[in-house]
Amino acid sequence: MTQSVLTADTLRDWIRKAADVLSENRAYLTDLDSPIGDADHGNNMQRGFNAASAALPPGEDPAAVAKAVAMALISKVGGAAGPLYGTYFLALAKRFEGAAPLDIDALASALEEAVAAVKKRGKAETGMKTMIDALDPAAVACRMEATQGGTVSLAVQAAAKAAEAGASATVPMLAQRGRASYLGDRSKGHQDPGATSSAMILRALADVVAGR
Ligand code: ADP
Ligand code: MG
Repeated sequence: MTQSVLTADTLRDWIRKAADVLSENRAYLTDLDSPIGDADHGNNMQRGFNAASAALPPGEDPAAVAKAVAMALISKVGGAAGPLYGTYFLALAKRFEGAAPLDIDALASALEEAVAAVKKRGKAETGMKTMIDALDPAAVACRMEATQGGTVSLAVQAAAKAAEAGASATVPMLAQRGRASYLGDRSKGHQDPGATSSAMILRALADVVAGR
């Protein structure tokens, strides 16, 4: 099945799927956050996306869905990741507002603007061993599909794959933001929890668009 636009229904399915996947991976994400953090990332993500799922509004407006998700994440998740993911979804909402239909070009712009907002909020760049190392390559991959005239289905697959590669690539990195940065060189050799949850969230989108 190929999909040429994203609808409010797709976005609701995305968030529900992400909530399921993050819940299934709660222990794994918390384990990643143990050696280089405070072992709460799985709990934070589960709580946040369950709250987001419960807050999903009805209707045909994708921006309203993304905005409700942002608000739930900001209010329900303590720690660094909640406000940062909230910032991400708020920026998606902002881009979705003007986009009708929400096609591949709008999606590419949304992912680019969302990661730019997270960078600004967290004062972080690519290579600092954070969620940006998954979110940024995902946006780049989506834009590349858009430039090549691809479909939304191809774009979200490419974005998920790039995010997964980006998360894996955080293993040797030196953490330069967040709690992991307190460890200095000892942060090397561990995969970043936030990059990992970001890859899961984008994989959930790809799966929903693919009808899985
Ligand atoms: P906390 O660190 O407050 O316990 P979490 O454990 O839920 O919060 O989230 C940790 C993740 O947040 C990290 O793995 C990293 O990906 C992300 N993160 C932390 N600080 C930043 C930042 N300044 N910019 C981007 N991402 C960050
Ligand atoms: Mg933590």
